[in-house]
Amino acid sequence: MKKTVLVSGGAGFIGSHVTVELIQAGYDVVMADNFSNCDRSGYEGVKQITGREDLPLEEVDFCNAAQVHALFAKYPIDAVIHFAAYKAVGESVEKPVMYYKNNLMSFLNVLEAAQEKGGCNVLFSSSATVYGEPDAVPVTEKTPRKPATSPYGNTKQMCEDILRDTVKASGGTVKGILLRYFNPIGAHPSALIGELPRGVPNNLVPYITQTAVGKRPCLNIFGNDYPTPDGTCLRDFIDIVDLAKAHVCAVGRMLEGKMKADCEVFNIGTGRPLSVLELVNAFEKVNGVKLNYKFVPRRAGDVVSIWADPTLANTEMGWKATRSIEETLKSAWEWELHLKNQQQ
Ligand code: UDP
Repeated sequence: MKKTVLVSGGAGFIGSHVTVELIQAGYDVVMADNFSNCDRSGYEGVKQITGREDLPLEEVDFCNAAQVHALFAKYPIDAVIHFAAYKAVGESVEKPVMYYKNNLMSFLNVLEAAQEKGGCNVLFSSSATVYGEPDAVPVTEKTPRKPATSPYGNTKQMCEDILRDTVKASGGTVKGILLRYFNPIGAHPSALIGELPRGVPNNLVPYITQTAVGKRPCLNIFGNDYPTPDGTCLRDFIDIVDLAKAHVCAVGRMLEGKMKADCEVFNIGTGRPLSVLELVNAFEKVNGVKLNYKFVPRRAGDVVSIWADPTLANTEMGWKATRSIEETLKSAWEWELHLKNQQQ
């Protein structure tokens, strides 16, 4: 029988790509979102890519316990992937209560509803931000976490701990996987779904594509005096489709009883460091566009260098990033052009 996966925050950037891959891998998916930080185009795009006109969409506020319980009562949920959360670091510093309330409450409601149903497989979308500025790179899952430098980062650490404790106390009925993402970028090759930042983008690649298309006059590169080969920060940029496929592997692992512990952690990255400037240069080259950029002072809170050691995900989950940075940057540009064409 087909297994059902609930994807909270399913209409967003990562959620929509994960939904596509799950459907294509043969799962029934319930997409749930309150559309607080995205519109319906993610849902429409997923339907178009997969041909699943009947894809269930539930407009749910995960901070509302009654709504979450009703969702779990309505569907035979075998696994839940939890994305529904706020994600802007700067905003979290300005509005900590809003961040703690939303990101913790929504996850607690999911866990409570899952427990009440007698258990569940829970996949939590965590982040490399939990490693802070690591003492050594690349980071493995054993690299110690560092104290969070923002309320956003803190919510990721707290949710990791909450899931671990819940799994431990559940006597095996709740199983958990924490996926720590590095820097997800790019878009689906169909250019039907992608990242849709509201207002001025915080992240590098949407800022690049918006500058290239003329929505922004100039890309600011934050800092060129870091202790790195070219002075700009080093990151592990991971293709969004590759990242989405990691979720299919993780869900399969949970549902097929392949886990080696009741709560597991995996880094989801390429293992390949790339500097901000290298990324900018690659974007210009692969897409044949000239990007207006300038160097400005460092951005507060930025980590100098971080990239993944993805060996555990490679060997244990059988997952590996496969797309080249060129393919990924091409997909990011095609998505931006798709948005431009839509507006015309
Ligand atoms: N960055 C930049 N200009 C921008 C946005 C980001 O130079 O407009 C740099 C940022 O300083 C960092 C890297 O790009 O070194 C990745 O930043 P992003 O916000 O995309 O992800 P983070 O690694 O902070 O999670």
